[in-house]
Amino acid sequence: MKTEVLILGGGPGGYSAAFRAADLGKQVTLVERYPVLGGVCLNVGCIPSKTLLHAAAVINEAKEVSSYGISFNPPKIDLKKLKATKEKVSKQLNTGLAGLAKQRNVTIIQGLGEFSSSNSMVVKNGDTREEIEFEQAIIAVGSQAVKIPPFPNDDPRLMDSTDALALEDVPEKLLIIGGGIIGLEMATVYHALGSKISVVEMQNQIIPGCDKDLVRPLMQKIKKSYDKILLSTAVESIEALDEGLKVSFSGDKQPPEIFDKVLVAVGRRPNGHLIAADKAGINVDERGFIQVDKQQRTNIDNIYAIGDVVGNPMLAHKAVHEGKIAAEVIAGHQSQWQALTIPSVAYTDPEIAWMGLTENEAKEQGIDYEKGAFPWAASGRSLSMGRKEGLTKILSDKETGRILGAGMTGTNAGELIAEAVLALEMGACVDDIALTVHAHPTLAETFAFAAEMIEGTITDLMPPKKR
Ligand code: NAD
Repeated sequence: MKTEVLILGGGPGGYSAAFRAADLGKQVTLVERYPVLGGVCLNVGCIPSKTLLHAAAVINEAKEVSSYGISFNPPKIDLKKLKATKEKVSKQLNTGLAGLAKQRNVTIIQGLGEFSSSNSMVVKNGDTREEIEFEQAIIAVGSQAVKIPPFPNDDPRLMDSTDALALEDVPEKLLIIGGGIIGLEMATVYHALGSKISVVEMQNQIIPGCDKDLVRPLMQKIKKSYDKILLSTAVESIEALDEGLKVSFSGDKQPPEIFDKVLVAVGRRPNGHLIAADKAGINVDERGFIQVDKQQRTNIDNIYAIGDVVGNPMLAHKAVHEGKIAAEVIAGHQSQWQALTIPSVAYTDPEIAWMGLTENEAKEQGIDYEKGAFPWAASGRSLSMGRKEGLTKILSDKETGRILGAGMTGTNAGELIAEAVLALEMGACVDDIALTVHAHPTLAETFAFAAEMIEGTITDLMPPKKR
């Protein structure tokens, strides 16, 4: 079989690349090992976790609304139905994607693809083997959860994120190794379902890539509601016993403890070593990353790569953006990566979102910045929702006033960050933000209030003294 453009991998990056290339007139074949499109994000990642996080939010809100004088009986949780709902959402999206692929005449081949040269790939599916010749290829093979070798990885009580999302049961005591985004999102889900949660994080703060002030409201909340949060602590060993998994921690402060289940969420590693890239002459580094230029081209002229396999952050929205660039370059456009930032969101409760320069980075790089931080304790909208722990902050260039970075913590922070990303991309200054009329009362107006804190024009709080 021959094709103009071959896409290897049908996650958000891969299918976006395929669809964009087809829309630009290319004949496209997409190779995917699973029977459905959507990859980790749609089938065992972002989407199913958001379905479960929605259920968790409803459970939590029903409990918290008792302070408004409204009480519900404790929820009855039908795990089978919750699982089915989660699967239904993914299936709906799978079906939509299959339809979109068909409408665009994108050929989908199910199987495991490996390069056999820089113009050909072998696709294996059971006993069948198919050779595809291509003119150009886009590698979009993603990543997989990191496993820690000495742990009893075959024991079903030791889970990765896919196992945790499968929701086989609700363990009484759950340990989460890794206080990153996956660990804390799954902690939110299982805590709402009734598990006693402990988190162990190697670094001295949870979500280490994020500024401490943005993480603080989440940390304060879960410190009270979770069993334990162990920072600067590593897991030394896990022993599989009949009664549970016995976990030993580093240092002498934390005695070994038995948990019903353990979730390992210590990051993901790229799948660059799984595709016989050497047969096509593609350079793959030791960790499995494939290096690309601003147009997503690998060291081999007709082969491009996108998404998790080309580097961090491993986020679907980055992969989609890169996929479109690769497809456009293949179709002869002058596209290249020009976006100034990739937003990050932890869909925890409260949510945390940030973009652009972090305050830690500004300090490390010696950048002269101004900071405006608006506490949601002074936001009428947040208080009316029974939440006072949020924060919105903006960093701006001291000389020009241009926005450099921003972050927010609180309900819907993941939605609110979009305005900050647009402001950065449009080169907005803090006065542009402060002088934009925001609807009142909204959580979105906290973004303008943070700008007013820098401008000194805030009236909802006392203006900070100008430095
Ligand atoms: P992560 O890198 O976000 O977090 C892993 C955490 O584990 C880090 O805090 C790290 O310090 C800690 N850690 C590493 N080794 C450890 C050890 N041995 N013991 C204790 N702690 C250890 O990785 P993740 O949470 O597994 O997520 C993987 C990828 O998926 C990330 O790139 C993430 O951004 C992405 N993701 C994004 C979202 C989202 O956008 N909402 C959701 C899920 C996953």
